[in-house]
Amino acid sequence: MKGYRQMSRLLVIGCGGVAQVAIQKCCQNDKTFTELMIASRTEEKCIQLKNKIESAGTNVKLSTAKVNADNKDEIVALINSYKPDAVLNVALPYQDLTIMDACLECKVDYIDTANYEPEDTDDPKWREIYEARCKDKGFTAYFDYSWQWAYEEKFKNAGITALLGTGFDPGVTSVFTAYAAKHYFDEIETIDILDCNGGDHGYPFATNFNPEINLREVSANGSYMENGKWVETKPMEIKRVYNFPEVGEKDMYLLHHEEIEALGRNFPNVKRIRFFMTFGQSYLTHMKCLENVGMLSTSPINFEGHEIVPIQFLKALLPDPASLGPRTVGKTNIGCIFTGKKDGKDRCIYIYNVCDHQECYKELGSQAISYTTGVPAMIGTALVVNGAWKKPGVFTTDEFDPDPYMEMLNEYGLPWVVDENPVLVD
Ligand code: NDP
Repeated sequence: MKGYRQMSRLLVIGCGGVAQVAIQKCCQNDKTFTELMIASRTEEKCIQLKNKIESAGTNVKLSTAKVNADNKDEIVALINSYKPDAVLNVALPYQDLTIMDACLECKVDYIDTANYEPEDTDDPKWREIYEARCKDKGFTAYFDYSWQWAYEEKFKNAGITALLGTGFDPGVTSVFTAYAAKHYFDEIETIDILDCNGGDHGYPFATNFNPEINLREVSANGSYMENGKWVETKPMEIKRVYNFPEVGEKDMYLLHHEEIEALGRNFPNVKRIRFFMTFGQSYLTHMKCLENVGMLSTSPINFEGHEIVPIQFLKALLPDPASLGPRTVGKTNIGCIFTGKKDGKDRCIYIYNVCDHQECYKELGSQAISYTTGVPAMIGTALVVNGAWKKPGVFTTDEFDPDPYMEMLNEYGLPWVVDENPVLVD
């Protein structure tokens, strides 16, 4: 029927930098999303965002709620009262499992942007499993997919979808891989994922997304996958310099990153998968210093009668990533270089997106890191909600037809380029 819109109701948990972009993008995509509830620990932020969107004008019916997403029963009660078609988790990776449990209990689809990681890495029950996994798999990052992949049968039996890691990296980088495999290669041999942030916020030190998650990731050992096995490096041990289109020459360092694990499982014939991220010298010097004095520790200490976690205290001192928007200038360039074979011939391509911090700020009031994560969070959610990517089980973004996702990247502000003659990383 002309003019008819299929009704859909989305519950978004979290209202930080990424959530604010994802929610505003859902409101742009009002042919898919008709009603949306913003629920987070601090409801005030949800109300502020709702007011901002409503005063700019929207067709989406918004509401807000307070929820503690560490408490499954609270989430279940909220889902039962709001009755969403899907839950988008853009809180923190610590909440992934409680939100998945709640979705399972209520038989509602689940979407997130980062894989599970425990808040308390000293918890002996978690530590025992973690140490066995380090030995078994050969990488020591605190996060891995095993916790969420363990829900596969339960989601399948419940007939619901879990879409994991639909940010930029992971998320779009895995869609780029599926797209390269579908349209450009008979066989992909190597994948280099390059994440360059050429933005400058003018602070001596700040992180572009949640400081606790960001600093944990960056101060950990690096690793890459070669012939199906993990090779681990010391933090920042492998450095390369790359001249990024529209950004210029930057130092980049090899990091462990979660999509390597999923791509290694789902593309077992790829011989090597690496991930590099750019960092300036000042960022690295600050981080080393903070690490040396113990400020990156996740273990609680007693300070004047209060228990504090050093990295959480540091987070309270650093600028809120959501506040960097107005001051950040420059561009990001995130993409993947693939090598392999097509019709018996060698081929290499580079698929990337360039995103301008100031353009993002003009459009949505946020910087490009939140923007490049929030847009794909909306796209993945839309494809689950509209049925294109809905199937029972637990999936990463490389496991579906990439074409509708790639089209939506162009439509919703993250256009991509395919360079068929890129400079390779040695
Ligand atoms: P922020 O810290 O800005 O926002 C987190 C939000 O979650 C806040 O609104 C916070 O509430 C809320 N929250 C935290 N704990 C709870 C809880 N127990 N119950 C309810 N709400 C809670 O983080 P970002 O927006 O920067 O990051 C969001 C997610 O995106 C993270 O998981 C991050 O790892 C992921 N990410 C993924 C990327 C990718 O490319 N795949 C890139 C960047 C980020 P409050 O306001 O009270 O603090």
